[in-house]
Amino acid sequence: VSQKIYFTPGPAQLYPSVEAHLKQALWEDIPSISHRSNQFRSIYQDTVEALRELLGLPDNFAILFTGSATEVWERLLQNCVEETSFHLVNGEFSKKFYEFGHLLQKKSLKQEVEVGKGFEVADIQVDYKAELIAVVHNETSTGVVTPEADIQQIKQKNPQRLVAVDMVSSAPYPQLDYRLVDSAYFSVQKAFGLPAGLGVWLVNEKCLAKAESLENKKFTTGAHHRLTNLWKFFEKYETPSTPNVLGIYLLGKIAQDMLREGVANIRKATDRKAQILYDFLQQDSRFEPFVQNPKHRSPTVIVANTVANAPDLIKKISAQGLIMGSGYQTFKEKQIRIANFPAVSLAAVEQLREALAQS
Ligand SMILES: *Cc1c(COP(=O)(O)O)cnc(C)c1O
Repeated sequence: VSQKIYFTPGPAQLYPSVEAHLKQALWEDIPSISHRSNQFRSIYQDTVEALRELLGLPDNFAILFTGSATEVWERLLQNCVEETSFHLVNGEFSKKFYEFGHLLQKKSLKQEVEVGKGFEVADIQVDYKAELIAVVHNETSTGVVTPEADIQQIKQKNPQRLVAVDMVSSAPYPQLDYRLVDSAYFSVQKAFGLPAGLGVWLVNEKCLAKAESLENKKFTTGAHHRLTNLWKFFEKYETPSTPNVLGIYLLGKIAQDMLREGVANIRKATDRKAQILYDFLQQDSRFEPFVQNPKHRSPTVIVANTVANAPDLIKKISAQGLIMGSGYQTFKEKQIRIANFPAVSLAAVEQLREALAQS
């Protein structure tokens, strides 16, 4: 095993038990089994049961598998939007979802804030035509978080619209009340610390009903992964096409390990490690947190402005085996991003802080 520690926000540091589960999976021939076998159905079921418990996800939600979180954007637009989606844009990921709407011939609308800023619920003006509101819990490009309570308030103010939450770089951290969310999604190479190649789409029966109504109106909801078909297969713990069986197996195992650790403990440890990093960034004059408002500072992806040239700093720190993420796009030269995922231990965070302090 490599001695490096990845603080990159995806792909990221592997969760410590991945190696053992991967070996066990090979031993059990998991990559060779049929996806139409009882063995696969029971893997899918185990993963669903572990995720339900970990996330507090009620039974009216299906757990569906896609190729990536990016795929989920397309599926949501095709299956849950007849004409108008509404996007809260505060960085590159939320913006891409909005742009997908136009690529799919929808009349997607957005409300946008400056990068590094978050939304105040009182300032959000949802267009009356919006069928779906897209909100990002953790905007990975900027390190801005939208607190769970704010997401839920958006739904309370818009009970007739679907609310879809991107929690790609934070799940299982966010403690969402799934009575006030209609869909949420993530991919496994971020906070779950797994190899990439699996998107996880949580959807409730209201989303399914919307997809059915679109199909009744002869809309195209997709072919390969349309919601009605994914859901039909989910009911027997199968998938329409050959899925990432190994990925689904590993996700179930890691979710079970996280349950043993205790999700409350994982959240507490995340907060503590984030505090250490933000305190350091505020104390050392060569750094500052990019996000000014403490309420909008992400606990899972910490973005910092650097006085030094950021690529040089990243290179210098990487010589010690500590791999940080670069600033996103236009911020490459003057920002670093530090993923504070469950796979990164307190000791690793302290090691990084020392390395930055001595840089
Ligand atoms: C990484 C990321 C995505 C895209 O995930 P993929 O697995 O690359 O499709 C979407 N949203 C956010 C916030 C992300 O961090």
